[in-house]
Amino acid sequence: MPPPTDNNPLLPYQLPFPPDAMTEIVIPDANTSDERLWVPQAENVSFRPLCLNRSQGYWVTLLRVRKAGLLSRHRHPQPVHGFVLKGSWRYLEHDWVATPGSYVYEPPGETHTLIVPEDVDEMITFFHVSGMMYYVDPWGKGVGFDDVFTKIELCRAHFEKVGLGADYVTRFLR
Ligand code: FE
Repeated sequence: MPPPTDNNPLLPYQLPFPPDAMTEIVIPDANTSDERLWVPQAENVSFRPLCLNRSQGYWVTLLRVRKAGLLSRHRHPQPVHGFVLKGSWRYLEHDWVATPGSYVYEPPGETHTLIVPEDVDEMITFFHVSGMMYYVDPWGKGVGFDDVFTKIELCRAHFEKVGLGADYVTRFLR
């Protein structure tokens, strides 16, 4: 039998997806005003989980930094992609400023400290971070780290505390 003719571009894909494929994540209100979904990570710094990929070791979040917040000096062994939604920020180690609409690629080997200018009340940036954030002193000596598993644990503890239940995090896991 000849294959059916593909003459209708609006005919959806007709076969089931691979049985081992994972399900999609769709979050219509990603930049939510529901404070319960913003997980505190440091003073004036919180993140909104979108995809916590434990099988590939990366996490995708909205990072929110409010006045006087700062993301401690850290090194990236793997790449980071960012897209600024609101406010602005810069790194102490670079002379450019990321503003709304800016895309930023951070190559492996970057070590930097994120700060928000005095006149910015709030910045929100979409970040896709692979591997880990290796917190260091000014000379590169390690003082701690975050990876997808520490992010998941932060979410679990926070969601439990705000009444959503620790398992609320599972919807973001892949
Ligand atoms: Fe970074």
